[in-house]
Amino acid sequence: MNNDKAEPPNSPPTHLTPTDLEELCQDLETELLSLERSMKVTDIGLKPVELDQTAVGRLSRMDELQNQAMTKNLRVREDIKLGGLQQALQRIEDGTYGRCTECGEGIPLARLQVFPETATCVNCTA
Ligand SMILES: [Zn+2]
Repeated sequence: MNNDKAEPPNSPPTHLTPTDLEELCQDLETELLSLERSMKVTDIGLKPVELDQTAVGRLSRMDELQNQAMTKNLRVREDIKLGGLQQALQRIEDGTYGRCTECGEGIPLARLQVFPETATCVNCTA
């Protein structure tokens, strides 16, 4: 446990300990589960607007359409997040998790704890 830069050449492809990885993996799986739950709710919101003239007035129908537009935006963000989480879990399996996919530098644990699905270091994200 010292900060000497001399890393043994046969060091594993990640600077994270197995415990760190375990915890981050759990974070990712938890996020994936809750994302899948909220995506089911989004699915309901994406159903076509019913033009029920008796129950829904013109104004609330416009509200409905606006809500749907927002729901579509939400779905786009959810898809991106889902892809990120799935790729991160794949990188854990591949043993490449924790390294920037752009420059190969180790991503600090503190950053991974906040954004466990992150694929790039701060420099490459900017
Ligand atoms: Zn990088």
